[in-house]
Amino acid sequence: MASVSHSSLLNKAVRQQYMSLPQGHKCQVTYIWIDGSGEGLRNKTRTLDFEPTSISDIPEWNFDGSSTSQAEGSNSDMYLVPVCMFRDPFTLDPNKLVLCEVLKYNRFPAETNHRVRCREVMEQVKEHCIWFGMEQEYTLLGIDGHPYSWPANGFPGPQGPYYCGVGAQNAYGRDVVECHYKACLYAGVKIYGTNAEVMPSQWEFQVGPCEGIQMGDHLWVARFLLHRVCEDFGVMATLDPKPMKGNWNGAGCHTNVSTKQMREDGGLEHIERAIEKLGKRHAEHIAVYDPHGGEDNKRRLLGHLETSSIHEFSDGVANRGSSIRIPRQVGQEKKGYFEDRRPAANCDPYTVTAAIAATCLLDAGTMRRSMVEEGE
Ligand code: ADP
Ligand code: MN
Ligand code: MN
Ligand code: MN
Repeated sequence: MASVSHSSLLNKAVRQQYMSLPQGHKCQVTYIWIDGSGEGLRNKTRTLDFEPTSISDIPEWNFDGSSTSQAEGSNSDMYLVPVCMFRDPFTLDPNKLVLCEVLKYNRFPAETNHRVRCREVMEQVKEHCIWFGMEQEYTLLGIDGHPYSWPANGFPGPQGPYYCGVGAQNAYGRDVVECHYKACLYAGVKIYGTNAEVMPSQWEFQVGPCEGIQMGDHLWVARFLLHRVCEDFGVMATLDPKPMKGNWNGAGCHTNVSTKQMREDGGLEHIERAIEKLGKRHAEHIAVYDPHGGEDNKRRLLGHLETSSIHEFSDGVANRGSSIRIPRQVGQEKKGYFEDRRPAANCDPYTVTAAIAATCLLDAGTMRRSMVEEGE
């Protein structure tokens, strides 16, 4: 018995009749934000009388923060400040998806609004034209919370044939992956590619290269699209960094990084300098590479199954067991980018990219919170 949601079994032909109705000159705008868990996404939709052409056309809005672990009931109105606009791949043109920052009643950033600090850092390192590419690994689950299509009692065959695999015996849930890919392209998310992962039902998509703050914006929206596509199919996507204990690969969010100097001839020297700086702040980075101060990554970074040890910093060319990997081609061409393999799948990309930029280019700490807020 396939464990998909009831909602996914509602009559799609009936749905299609309504979805194809004309909507006049009105525009549906769906506001998306990060909730109080720092991992969950929320959204709600309103009608505009015109089609917005830029983010500044979209009005601020608000929501009830006491229902998203973001405020007390007595002072619960939170501001939604639109920051990035995409096409809506579900209700189609002219409708929009809008990623928002969350501000508290006093207009200070909400606890889980790490975009503010990220924006400050990216502004300070602007001249370096820093690019990121993040590899989002995730695991499909049935509505029962068990990995999708795994036997109810027992396990699929051991890892080996699943990574980049093809065939019903190897690839579990490819419909989700292909629909998510198209949804990203339609929306305008800078999706780079996708592949099946080492554990069955585990997949990856990459976003990038994105400059500065765009990395976090596009990855968060790509995650929203993933959860939304999964909802349509009646399954779930978890970003838990170690969904299955034992000899099953965990899920990371490898972060690829380059500056203008690293991409130019002889850039390897700058890559090595950045890695040296990262090595000196290993513990600080681990503390911000998952939403629970390193607790989530503790289950994943075990020093085997293509991960490094959480306790030690290491680097190497083409080494997938190290904290930082220099791709083989980059080692050969002596320019390009490096890969930080430590971030957990459920990391906040704003926090991760801000920490990397601060350590490598500002010699500054990686604190999560904005200076603005600390002064409160
Ligand atoms: P892997 O071999 O580690 O699995 P992937 O092919 O999955 O690598 O992902 C590569 C990532 O590197 C993509 O997100 C891409 O956007 C990113 N990338 C490529 N070139 C650069 C660059 N110069 N700077 C930063 N990121 C880059
Ligand atoms: Mn990859
Ligand atoms: Mn991978
Ligand atoms: Mn990788």
